Amino acid sequence: MKMMNISDALNVIKAHQAKIPVQVIDLANELGLKVYEVPNWPDDLSGMVRKNVEATGGFDIFVNQTHAETRRRFTIAHEIAHVVLHPHLIGDGITDDALLRSGLSNDVEAQANRLAADILMPREALNSRLKMGINSVYVLATEFKVSDQAMAIRLGVAQ
Ligand SMILES: [Zn+2]
Repeated sequence: MKMMNISDALNVIKAHQAKIPVQVIDLANELGLKVYEVPNWPDDLSGMVRKNVEATGGFDIFVNQTHAETRRRFTIAHEIAHVVLHPHLIGDGITDDALLRSGLSNDVEAQANRLAADILMPREALNSRLKMGINSVYVLATEFKVSDQAMAIRLGVAQ
């Protein structure tokens, strides 16, 4: 399939944010990305994205199956972000290490992390909880299915 442009992709993301927690694999699939969980990767490998083998213009995402679910979800969102934001930089494929760094620049990785956080912890949904007085990192992290650390960073209360 043909890659959609960024505003189409952002609309698909928004539609998937109507329900929390965001179903990140369903989201990837709707964006034309297949997600594979890899059982035998070393712990310091988080994810990979590369053109799919059928070379139909789409991409495949690979994620370390041994990592915790919250971590896998963030990795998948990060790889989605690479495809949405800068597919032209993916080349033959990129591999993200334990800190979600690949051979790409720190700026590019930071952009991917920002979009990943935006995907999994949409501001609107988060703000509605905060307004109701729900402000526990643990409670919100559990509801949004992200790590406590990711939620603490999102809320600006990380140590
Ligand atoms: Zn990356």
